[in-house]
Amino acid sequence: MLDAAGESYGGATTRTDVPMNAKQVLLVEDDERIGSSLVRALTGNDFDVRWERTGHEAAATAISWEPDLILLDLGLPDMDGLDVCRRIHAANPLLEVIMLTARDEELDIVVGLDAGAVDYITKPFKLAELLARVRAQLRRQGSRDPGVLDAGSLRLEVPSRRVWLHGEELSMRAKEFDLLARLMLSLGEVVTREALMSEVWDENWFGSTKTLDFHIAALRRKLDGSDDESRITTVRGVGYRLERG
Ligand code: CA
Repeated sequence: MLDAAGESYGGATTRTDVPMNAKQVLLVEDDERIGSSLVRALTGNDFDVRWERTGHEAAATAISWEPDLILLDLGLPDMDGLDVCRRIHAANPLLEVIMLTARDEELDIVVGLDAGAVDYITKPFKLAELLARVRAQLRRQGSRDPGVLDAGSLRLEVPSRRVWLHGEELSMRAKEFDLLARLMLSLGEVVTREALMSEVWDENWFGSTKTLDFHIAALRRKLDGSDDESRITTVRGVGYRLERG
């Protein structure tokens, strides 16, 4: 791994020129020219930056370092950026990814957001725009309690893996918790069956998705109580959506 100055980076090495409490940004970009100009811009704006050029290294660094934000190029030499995004999210659903993409087709953007990205920037972009988007995303993070997801009367705490409904704690099995956390992360938006299977169960899942339906049914029993309508809406042929409730 290389640090922002391009010097060899050891796990125990701490940069001394980064301000205390600097926001940590992981840049994933295989293009040397774009990468080095982004590192310069981000470092110059007091971010603590690490730069990875491959998907495998990016996923490993994201999971071990837990940066505040990840800027992820989709076109990487070794892995599709979307798979990198899914892998990062399967390990830690709270890590936030902004996609950098030359693919501006709507489908790619939808798939990217479904893979867990919070925002996307299409190439070519202006540095000022990128910095503004990064700051906007970090501001949004600052205004909420990290690790806590809220959806009306429903509250989920990731670090302790606890869930409350109307202030009463619910008991959750491991996969039910993971599934609910993933749906809450995309509150009000459809999450596809494929995304749920790959992120909650296994990224290489090719088997039956009956287990997903089974867990959705179990979640509904726990969440809906006596309500007539479920908080979890089935979107036929696509996936599920947790309503804001
Ligand atoms: Ca690229």
